[in-house]
Amino acid sequence: MSTIKLQNLTKRFGDLVAVNNVDLNIDAGEVLCLLGPSGCGKTTTLRMVAGLEMATEGDVFLADKRVNDLTPSQRNVAMAFQFYALYPSLNVAENLAYPLHADRLSQADIDGKVREVARVLDLTDVLNRLPGRLAEGEKQRVSVGRAIIRDPNCFLFDEPLSRLDVQLREQMRGQIKEVLSGLNKATVIVTHDQLEALTMADRIAVMRDGYIEQVGTPHEVFATPSNLFVAGFIGTPQMNLMAGTFAGQRSGSLRLKTGEQEIAIPSSVPHAGLTEGGRVTIGIRPRSTELASEAGDDTLTATVDLIEPMGAETLLHLSDGDRDLRVVVDQDVMVRVGEQLHVRPRASQTHLFDQNDARIA
Ligand code: ATP
Repeated sequence: MSTIKLQNLTKRFGDLVAVNNVDLNIDAGEVLCLLGPSGCGKTTTLRMVAGLEMATEGDVFLADKRVNDLTPSQRNVAMAFQFYALYPSLNVAENLAYPLHADRLSQADIDGKVREVARVLDLTDVLNRLPGRLAEGEKQRVSVGRAIIRDPNCFLFDEPLSRLDVQLREQMRGQIKEVLSGLNKATVIVTHDQLEALTMADRIAVMRDGYIEQVGTPHEVFATPSNLFVAGFIGTPQMNLMAGTFAGQRSGSLRLKTGEQEIAIPSSVPHAGLTEGGRVTIGIRPRSTELASEAGDDTLTATVDLIEPMGAETLLHLSDGDRDLRVVVDQDVMVRVGEQLHVRPRASQTHLFDQNDARIA
């Protein structure tokens, strides 16, 4: 079975801990995206799986076999840095066959593999064409084909779509996911683009400073971020994160104070993790709100500073003097700069984080 298992994987460059004690299991057929800001250790993790970088500590298992001491070629992984570099003087079939030459296969075996990959990627009709005569999407599919043709133990992709324009990226995200899901291999994709991760991954591992902050399905990391970093990193526009204090739980609501305002979040669950007067961070996604016609127990009041049209929606930047609040409304909601609004967060989608930045369940 094509699986990847990382156990206590650590990489130090001198004093810098680039990857810190990473544990991950990726199943056959599963696509895991390593997502995080620049420098968080994504590529170094991937390079340790490929054998291009030696682990300082910890183990890499491919198909249940410990591979720490194997060379990259002995590990038989397919690693692609981006889906592009095609040889311009070779036609599609020759480009696809290129990675097979080291394997000493018969011409009949090579032709068979090329035909199969071309069928999966819908390239059969263009096998004799040179790259210069291909549409952009076809070129991308050929480079995916080159990555998958050798039947490797697993697939490793580093920012595969980073050089593409927006439209092609959108197309490729869906296509790559479809192709990979039919191959039953463990796949790791490194990206700093959350949209890429949310659309292509079965699970996302969010990294920061060498650590894995959270591993979960795209829905889990979006809907239940385990800490403040993940909450702020996943989701656009970014989640509003407001410093506050817990003012007690009364009549089925959590009372939260932020600046001069107090807001009630309906909740019947007793929150053992909260103490009255204790510091909390309140997380409200800009889309998890509605505008109320008047101020209430469950609204925050703020003034419109800036109106940013985004097509079907409008992003409003509000302020109550002390803190900013971003709210997304439908394009047909008419407001003016300077107008006072009452914003009601959706109770079930309001997040709370404790003094250590951890999610309060
Ligand atoms: P990016 O998206 O910018 O590539 P990343 O998350 O992939 O970032 P890495 O490339 O893994 O991050 O780098 C993690 C840290 O390790 C960074 O601080 C980087 O400067 C450092 N680093 C990476 N390779 C080396 C090296 N060969 N020698 C010294 N430091 C390195």
